[in-house]
Amino acid sequence: MSLRLIEYTPHELTGPNKYMYDVHRRIPEYLNREDFREAVKEFANLYGCWFSASVGSKAYKLHHVDEWRNEWEEVVTATTELKPEFYKDYFDKWVWKLTIENKLNEFTNMSIDKSGRIDIRPMSIGGWVWSLIYKDYYDKTTYTPCSNPKCTRELPSLSPTTKRKMKYCSQSCKNAVHYRVKTRKGVYN
Ligand SMILES: [Zn+2]
Repeated sequence: MSLRLIEYTPHELTGPNKYMYDVHRRIPEYLNREDFREAVKEFANLYGCWFSASVGSKAYKLHHVDEWRNEWEEVVTATTELKPEFYKDYFDKWVWKLTIENKLNEFTNMSIDKSGRIDIRPMSIGGWVWSLIYKDYYDKTTYTPCSNPKCTRELPSLSPTTKRKMKYCSQSCKNAVHYRVKTRKGVYN
């Protein structure tokens, strides 16, 4: 089965934090924060609402922090259970696969083209996160730190949308490293 993930970019998102490929792996940091409300606010400011991208529309309804907590707890459990070392446990794997497929139905638009390829188009950051989890599972994606030693973001073995190899999470990290190398070589004085 071939899966294609369509890039999701919340329009509010600008600046150095717009890197999106490791968001699902950063959820534990938010979930475990002492001030959970603050964590939700911070996440929503960065990436938008978990449940819907149309925050400005009349149909938009606010989501209780407990709904966010439930989602994040499910994300953390799903990513833990679906790690390769857990693949042997077929029952858990099956349960989580089903859960993730339900999430994709809820938060993304999926379509199948003539060749049988499934396109996943996330409708919110929640949809993007669940899609990344799904892709990781099918592509057996692994993660390495960004090549900028000062950056804390992670890079997938292949980009989930273009399948290209990545070296930096962003242009600014690439620039930062190249600047340092040039400075060391004495290009800039
Ligand atoms: Zn980086």
